[in-house]
Amino acid sequence: MKFKDFKYERPDFDSNKSNLVELIKKLAEAKNIDEFRENFEKINVIRRHIQTMSTLAGVRNTIDTRDEFYDKEKEYWDGIEPHYASIDNEMFKILVNAKFDISSVVPESLIKMADYAIKSFDEKIIPLLQEENALCSKHGKLYASAKIEFDGEEYNLSSITKVLQSDDMDTRKRALKAKMAWFKANQAEIDDIYDKMVKVRDKMAKELGFENYIELGYIRMNRLDYDADMVANYRKQVLDEIVPLAQKYYKKQMNRLGLDELKNYNESIEFTTGNPKPKHSPEEMIKRAHKMYTEMSPETGEFFDTMVEQELFDLIAKPGKAGGGYCTGLFDYNVPIIFSNFNGTSGDVDVLTHEAGHAFQAYSTMKNGITIPECSFPTMESAEIHSMGMEFFAHPWMKLFFEEDTNKYYYLHMIHSIKFIPYGVLVDHFQHEVYAHPEMTPAERNEVWMKLEKTYLPHRDYDGIDVLSEGGFWYQQKHIFEMPFYYIDYTLAQICALQFWDRSYTEDPNVWNDYVNICKVGGTKTFLEILKEGNLKSPFEDGTIRKAVSHIEEFIDDLGEL
Ligand code: ZN
Repeated sequence: MKFKDFKYERPDFDSNKSNLVELIKKLAEAKNIDEFRENFEKINVIRRHIQTMSTLAGVRNTIDTRDEFYDKEKEYWDGIEPHYASIDNEMFKILVNAKFDISSVVPESLIKMADYAIKSFDEKIIPLLQEENALCSKHGKLYASAKIEFDGEEYNLSSITKVLQSDDMDTRKRALKAKMAWFKANQAEIDDIYDKMVKVRDKMAKELGFENYIELGYIRMNRLDYDADMVANYRKQVLDEIVPLAQKYYKKQMNRLGLDELKNYNESIEFTTGNPKPKHSPEEMIKRAHKMYTEMSPETGEFFDTMVEQELFDLIAKPGKAGGGYCTGLFDYNVPIIFSNFNGTSGDVDVLTHEAGHAFQAYSTMKNGITIPECSFPTMESAEIHSMGMEFFAHPWMKLFFEEDTNKYYYLHMIHSIKFIPYGVLVDHFQHEVYAHPEMTPAERNEVWMKLEKTYLPHRDYDGIDVLSEGGFWYQQKHIFEMPFYYIDYTLAQICALQFWDRSYTEDPNVWNDYVNICKVGGTKTFLEILKEGNLKSPFEDGTIRKAVSHIEEFIDDLGEL
């Protein structure tokens, strides 16, 4: 069955509720593990179906935000999800307080998540959750509606990226000004949405008995085995090890481009001869990705066959389509789906490696018989190891996409991986400040951003462009609005993916097996347990970061003049 034939039907809340309540009661009364398993599985069949319908509505809504039917359905789900969450919570209470050992049915990671779900929810915050959902939808819609006129053409926030990477400096500068003019025109509304988001989250935290949103944010992000102190220590290591390395490559970039200063609109350009671009049409790239995954391993080959046969992609930018890219799972069908906005840059290939890495993990987990919705994907920081790891495992096939520009791609990919980490840590540090001081005004928040930016990205030079030079770069970072505290995850995962790269580079024979193994366990383990499973070192441990980046300069030097 192809994706377009997957049938959407809004599930009936009342009948689902009564069925679930009944089964949860039986779960609580189970006298032995067999009775417990039987009822737990029945509950998950229903929950999988509910999630499948909610996801299907969400995916179709992002494919065409103008489609009124799915727009209405998305609104429906925004409103009903907290009520389903409240039923889930009843089940979670039973998992947490089980009278006998349930570990053969329920992974320890889910019991921890259940405990967190209980701590982060109460009937009385439902109106606040609904308000938060509505603000996220409003933000998403505002950004998706962005129209940027530039040189007689109309762009959205995704498609303008191509012009921002133009070979011509003046074009890049004008395009960045045009993009930021949209943010300037909408700044009051963006500030208002974010201000309301911060306040509603802070209120939620306080109603649940937390001091502020930080602790609740960690719980909602399912940080199962690390805390804000460990993250603060990690940020310090990034400051010591990665910031100087990144600064070195910013300097090299400036010299290579023959510039005296590296203005922000030049940062996307690494080479005077232009950045590497994929050489083929989207259709041809999918064919080549198919060849790559077939050659990579039997597991990845089978996975990509399914993706192609069932048309589980929506890759090309179209009017009305929401921005960005993602991968999600449709549990009833046991398949993942990949969404993106191809724009002709090397980012398109990243979708075929990064999002496909997520999809491969989800596929491997479902194939492994893991049917608990919460365990189909691991927690966020772990999930990004699979995707960012795949970007590196795909290196040997990059010639299929970049032809004569392949070495340039390697350079760009590696340099971006390094340069990304200080930025990601900055986004995290900013959010800690925001939620520690929810009373800050929008202008004060932008001042905080500016100050932190000087620490992590000391080279930044916005050439006086509006919004950016006033501490508003973060407006472009959707996660800050819609997924608080989700961002450090990418940097933690990057340190792990770099370990996979380093082990491939130094020809460790077990590296691929370790990768496949962590794909199979999905979310049945916590972050630190997954690292053990994959023979990876914890990024919180001193020395891990230094070791992970120890061969990078050698690798880059070997690429020669570019
Ligand atoms: Zn990802």
